[in-house]
Amino acid sequence: MNLANRIVEALGAVLPCDRFTPLHEPFFKGREWDYVRECIDTNWVSTAGKFVERFEEGLVAVTGANRAVAVNSGTAALQLALQVCGVKQGDEVVVPSLTFAATAAAAVHAGGSLLFADIDRQTLGLNPDKLDQELQLIAIPGEGGPINKQTGRRIAAVVPVHIFGHMVCMNELSAVCAKWNLPIVEDAAEALGSTFKGAAAGTIGVAGILSFNGNKIITAGGGGAILTNDEELANKARHLSSTAKLPHSWEYSHDLIGYNYRLPNINAALATAQLEQLNTYIKRKRKLAYRYAELFANFDEVSFIEEPDGCMSNYWLNTIMLEGDAVKEREAILQATNKAGFMTRPAWNLLHTLSPYAKYPTMDLSTALEIAPRLINIPSGAGIVVA
Ligand SMILES: *Cc1c(COP(=O)(O)O)cnc(C)c1O
Repeated sequence: MNLANRIVEALGAVLPCDRFTPLHEPFFKGREWDYVRECIDTNWVSTAGKFVERFEEGLVAVTGANRAVAVNSGTAALQLALQVCGVKQGDEVVVPSLTFAATAAAAVHAGGSLLFADIDRQTLGLNPDKLDQELQLIAIPGEGGPINKQTGRRIAAVVPVHIFGHMVCMNELSAVCAKWNLPIVEDAAEALGSTFKGAAAGTIGVAGILSFNGNKIITAGGGGAILTNDEELANKARHLSSTAKLPHSWEYSHDLIGYNYRLPNINAALATAQLEQLNTYIKRKRKLAYRYAELFANFDEVSFIEEPDGCMSNYWLNTIMLEGDAVKEREAILQATNKAGFMTRPAWNLLHTLSPYAKYPTMDLSTALEIAPRLINIPSGAGIVVA
């Protein structure tokens, strides 16, 4: 049997064969209806209301961050986090080339320029050693952060992305960034519930962000949050997110040009009910991942991406990697699996290859170029029942 059909058979051993299985479906089995109905019954559907606060408190409890600021998307969260961490017009922000476009878009929305960095084979996220080596080639240390000799721009922040829930090696990255005087803003959009040596994704850098889009591990319909231990940064982000309006009973006075990025109460209500089930989702998702790992252990040409050393992963999206020449079968595998009712997707196109991002400088990206075409995401929703 050819590789594509063997993969279909393997997926068929786990997934239902009588219906289409999406890549990642939301799973509503808690108090979602009660909480959303409460918003409607009380008229508190918009940017004020008790669920926003309750959701933020829940995020603080789950992650151990000092502060959580809920906003209306992960992209908005990352833009604000970069701004309050000091990214100014024209500064460079280091991002991996292998990530969802929102990571890079948010840095540009914050006024930044981009500097694309390579990934690590095991974590699929930023490679700290390589970042250090590349900075040694192009950067001059400076008081306000290093200067890129090739562009003349200040490098103002590093954004590790915890791809598919697997965390970047954060102790190594923290050491490299401390040496270069670079703040870390974690894109933990996909990694709520993952930990690195016990520390929650999004709480290790100066700030971190989460997403609650419909395809993430928990959903608000749409939403995001900024996590930080720095109360001042949290206050600034909250102020910017809510039109920079100064508190007053009736005056409209604004001290900055702010944004309307607050999370509506009705979305926070949905997210609060979802957050109550996070531990159940993680248990189910990890069980599914173990099952996939067992199945793909029988393949020579395919490896299953497992949580990296030091990381407890939420296994947001399960991923297989096509080894050696099997990379040539990717189209056939995508065709056969989707046709069989098992939704699969390639990993994102590397951002530096897309026209809006092609003008930005890149470091050596050899690992990303080699690995990205080999990745396929397979169905991963918390609703999938593993026998
Ligand atoms: C989903 C996602 C985002 C953006 O979050 P939204 O809530 O969709 O704006 C950013 N980065 C990564 C890596 C993501 O997966």
